[in-house]
Parts: sequence; structure tokens; C-alpha cells
Amino acid sequence: MDCLFCKMISGEVPAEVVREGERTLAFRDINPQAPVHVLVIPKEHHPNFASLAADPALLAEVTAEVGRVAEDEGVAESGYRVVFNTGSGAGQTVFHAHAHVLGGRGLNWPPG
Ligand code: 5GP
Ligand code: ZN
Repeated sequence: MDCLFCKMISGEVPAEVVREGERTLAFRDINPQAPVHVLVIPKEHHPNFASLAADPALLAEVTAEVGRVAEDEGVAESGYRVVFNTGSGAGQTVFHAHAHVLGGRGLNWPPG
């Protein structure tokens, strides 16, 4: 399967990894939208959030890693945003489910 994030998991494409679990990987976004911008992905390929959410245990591992990334990156107290863009209409461009963890600056709501 031609999936960028699967290639990052296999090491075929380099990634700046910040955390690795048995079933998850967290790495810095190549085009950061905030001082902290980390992507947390399941190692198993799921094309989108709905597919990932059909495996609640795996989704729980991804969200637990999100919390640890926020702690590690020093934004747990100052505040951070967790986003799953789901579908191209919502801005999803890589069809391997991923949580964006954004922080380190003020974030407006609602987003554009
Ligand atoms: P989406 O738009 O699907 O929600 O998010 C995809 C994210 O992947 C984007 O924020 C984009 O900057 C990031 N991205 C795309 N290609 C690469 C890459 O090769 N390496 C890394 N680290 N991030 C990437
Ligand atoms: Zn994949």
C-alpha cells in the first residue's frame, strides 16, 4: 500500500520521532502550524478516524500517547489542541489516521 505514514513506521521515509509505543508512533509535523505540532498515529493502517475508532482499544492507546506528548512537550498546563481532520472536506490530506497535537501559542476557536 502506498501510504506515507506506513512508510514512516517502516523507516522507509524518515521521521523526527518523539515517542514510540508498541502500537503507536509520534513524530513532528514537517510543516508545523504551532511551536508544538506533533502527529500521533497508530502503527496499524487505518484510513481515517472512523476506522481507528472502530478499534476502541487502539484509539485509547493513541489518545493516551497524545496526553504523554503534551506532557513531554511542556504544553499540558499551557493548553493544547487535539485534531483529527477527517475527510478531504475537513482538510485531511494523509489517509492514515493521525491526531494533530498543537500547542505552544494561543489558538483561536473556532478554527478557520
Ligand atoms: P492532514 O492534513 O491529513 O490532517 O495532516 C497531514 C499532516 O501531515 C500535515 O500537517 C502535513 O504537514 C504532514 N506531513 C505531510 N507530509 C509529511 C512528511 O513527509 N513528514 C512529516 N513529518 N509530516 C508530513
Ligand atoms: Zn498507512
